[in-house]
Amino acid sequence: MERLVTSNLKLGIIAGGQLGKMLIQEASKWDITTYVLDNDENCPAGSIASYYIKGSNTDFQSVYHFGKMVDVLTFEIENVNIEALKMLKSEGIRIAPDPEILELIQDKGLQKEFYKQNGIPTSPFEIYGSKNEILNAIEMGEIKFPFVQKLRRGGYDGRGVSIINDKNDLENLLSGSSVIEEKVDVEKEIAVIAARNRKGEIKCFPVVEMHFDAKANLVDKLICPSSITAEQSEKAISIASEIIELLNMEGLLAVEFFVDSSGTVIVNEIAPRPHNSGHHTIESIITSQFEQHLRAILNLPLGSTEIKIPSVMINVLGAEGYEGPVLYEGLTQCLAIEGVKIHLYGKKITKPYRKMGHVTILSPSIERALKNAEMVKQLIKVKSWKESS
Ligand code: ADP
Repeated sequence: MERLVTSNLKLGIIAGGQLGKMLIQEASKWDITTYVLDNDENCPAGSIASYYIKGSNTDFQSVYHFGKMVDVLTFEIENVNIEALKMLKSEGIRIAPDPEILELIQDKGLQKEFYKQNGIPTSPFEIYGSKNEILNAIEMGEIKFPFVQKLRRGGYDGRGVSIINDKNDLENLLSGSSVIEEKVDVEKEIAVIAARNRKGEIKCFPVVEMHFDAKANLVDKLICPSSITAEQSEKAISIASEIIELLNMEGLLAVEFFVDSSGTVIVNEIAPRPHNSGHHTIESIITSQFEQHLRAILNLPLGSTEIKIPSVMINVLGAEGYEGPVLYEGLTQCLAIEGVKIHLYGKKITKPYRKMGHVTILSPSIERALKNAEMVKQLIKVKSWKESS
């Protein structure tokens, strides 16, 4: 065990986005040697990893050779070459979470089947092989409006999801094998991040409430603690704990839920990695999600998930109309507001709605944190010298 938390331990992280960067920041506190695999040498994690390795997370050879360099392998995205991970596992490389869990989660169809088989509450669904099959099923009255189409593979940040309210929306149907699920009358979207280590110890972070920006289809604001009832909160935490246990997982599992108009808590989707809905934990919870991920994958005791101070987190997104080398506005004014913690990911190029950073706003009063968050939102602008065409 002692050998683990030391510069002798080589931790490999597949993909070097902001999640990888924040994981490395945490790992460096324990003097862990970090390796990151990413195709883009300017990726957020590239400059702070002990070693940056150029290569694609979806390419067998790149993932396989990268895995051979490290003692423990983890990932910050779902889109990873599974065959390479399985080969590495068969050759004794420690991978956490397990490739089979990733394989299940990569496919929204398999994910939904898993909920159904295990009695986990989720919206009713059917799986269809193509757009034509979906159109036929509508014709036959098997699929009723409104419904939600989700591509089984490759979607993220709302891409790969289409909400079809009536036949006028059918032009938005996506091509490809899909899950068709009932549209939930969503009252609130909430999330719980659970952690589990090999010993089977489980800890969950408090429930967060997510507010979406409809245009960007991204989380606009995240509030912790959430305003849901104690029963709803207990329900969400018990479902998250049940799923991570069923998966026999080592690492973090982010579970996104809907609270519907009757107050019922149902699972939307899961992600086996640190998550955007856990960024506030860096400052507002005793243990951050990144430290917890390290503790979980290294089979160390899990840290306290108690709230130190309430928080609101906002994503810093690229402004509409700008694409090119990034230019931030309003940072100095934001730093004059009490409890403001700015994180810039270091992406060199901005694009409309690209996640460029986040700001966590801390306050003993959640109302105050919400007011300050509104001010920050007005002040911070992510622009560029170049205007997008
Ligand atoms: P992604 O994996 O891209 O984040 P999600 O499954 O989270 O996709 O869907 C994106 C958004 O679409 C959700 O946050 C929610 O607002 C909406 N949505 C997804 N599924 C449903 C559903 N069954 N009913 C109503 N809204 C939904």
